[in-house]
Amino acid sequence: MNGLLKGALAAGGGAVGAELVRRAIFSGSHPRYEPWERAPFRDFPNKVLILGGGFAGYTAAKQLCKMTRNRDDVGVMVISRENYFTFWPMLAGCISSDIDTKNVAQPLRRALIRDGASFRRAEVESIDLESQCVTADGHEFPYDHLIVALGAEPAYFGIPGVQEHAISIKGIEAAEQIRNRVIERYEETTLARGQVPDSLLTFVVIGGGATGVEVASELHALVHDILAPDYPNINPHRVKIILVDSNEQVLKELDPALRRTARKKLADLQIEVHNKVKAKEITADRVILSDGRELSTQNAIWTAGARASEKLDDLPFPADERRGLKVDPYMRVEGYENVWGVGDCAANVEEDGTPVPPNAQAAVQEGKAVARNVLAVIDGKEPVPFDYRPVGQLVEMGSNFAVNQVMNVKFSGLIAALFWRATYLYKLESPQSRARIAADWLLDLFFSPAVTQIRDRQ
Ligand SMILES: Cc1cc2nc3c(=O)[nH]c(=O)nc-3n(C[C@H](O)[C@H](O)[C@H](O)COP(=O)(O)OP(=O)(O)OC[C@H]3O[C@@H](n4cnc5c(N)ncnc54)[C@H](O)[C@@H]3O)c2cc1C
Repeated sequence: MNGLLKGALAAGGGAVGAELVRRAIFSGSHPRYEPWERAPFRDFPNKVLILGGGFAGYTAAKQLCKMTRNRDDVGVMVISRENYFTFWPMLAGCISSDIDTKNVAQPLRRALIRDGASFRRAEVESIDLESQCVTADGHEFPYDHLIVALGAEPAYFGIPGVQEHAISIKGIEAAEQIRNRVIERYEETTLARGQVPDSLLTFVVIGGGATGVEVASELHALVHDILAPDYPNINPHRVKIILVDSNEQVLKELDPALRRTARKKLADLQIEVHNKVKAKEITADRVILSDGRELSTQNAIWTAGARASEKLDDLPFPADERRGLKVDPYMRVEGYENVWGVGDCAANVEEDGTPVPPNAQAAVQEGKAVARNVLAVIDGKEPVPFDYRPVGQLVEMGSNFAVNQVMNVKFSGLIAALFWRATYLYKLESPQSRARIAADWLLDLFFSPAVTQIRDRQ
């Protein structure tokens, strides 16, 4: 039965992948400029500088390039810390090796250069408002319009021990860190003589939102499907996966019926769920809960909170620590005509004042909308208020089960998992990553994914 499910999944993934490969090969656009044609960014009469190359910043740059393809008065530059953007929704899949980490890193430079934008891989340091200049890695970059899209990072709420003892999802490397931790514990167990403490093989995921649920489900897949044949001496049922959540039910953002379905699936996977309780302290060998209970574990994973980029603390703009830049309905930073805030680092609201949620679909919509508004202002027109159109939410729980809510339609199970795969394959930016992920899903039908642990030599 499992083989049949995987077959259906792989076939679905393969079909979508084949179509995407076909499109990628036959619809290749030419670069906007030949290398000798392009003026330096600082020579453009309207310089739009974008800080952050994630969902929001990257989309804003692409949209601006698209809208100014036939004009030469608008220059676009993206400054970002890495030369890729992380396709976060697929990150959890890297834990079980269902998805290769390098395919979750979407190359920024090539895509932006082809569209006519400039790209600098640099860390933003400061902004001089008077000279309208950003300093990044010691270099100065002038702007006429500035779009701030620096994203979010984990929030620890001052809980002792989280930063020291828990793995938190700060970046793409977190998925590898979690997988390597499991392998490390398995190797230690294999080498050990005598009794192995339960804490070594207990994994506690803190946070019962979509990320926590996906991480716990992928841990289960790694332990039960992928590693089990390689470690015949370790009974996978000895490995404990625990999910700790402060809400009444996990996935509080989903419809109650889907929450119950997810809860039942977690029970089927033997993932222990503790609701209505918070982690109060994390030490090297335990997670202490707010109700006084202690979970004995040497493996805590933190997914319980996020805050707007800490970099905002160094910038001269009005911001709320948790939700980020204070912006008006047009996404303009309060008090500034030419500074805009988008994505998880900005407290954007809908026209009626409802906060826009910090997710990828909102960031993409904001990226497109801010590009249109910036261009409107450059052209002497009025910007328009941001209008968020939520499409839905998809949560994958292993490769053959998902709980989805799309345009008020709720569905779960294998069909939902296929939908999850098709949607995110389609949404990936890089055609190479799409083709590689689809091919991997197909190959997984015949070969179990290899699980290797790349380690630095001491
Ligand atoms: C594990 C995980 C899973 C998720 N899954 C989903 C999902 O399934 N569906 C969904 O809708 N949303 C999901 N999200 C949320 C979604 O990914 C974010 O809402 C989205 O990425 C926000 O886009 P952004 O552009 O604001 O930030 P990001 O995409 O994070 O981009 C921020 C960019 O800024 C750059 N940057 C930051 N600081 C600096 C600096 N000082 N100098 C230079 N560059 C800098 C970063 O390198 C990055 O390129 C998930 C998030 C996480 C963490």
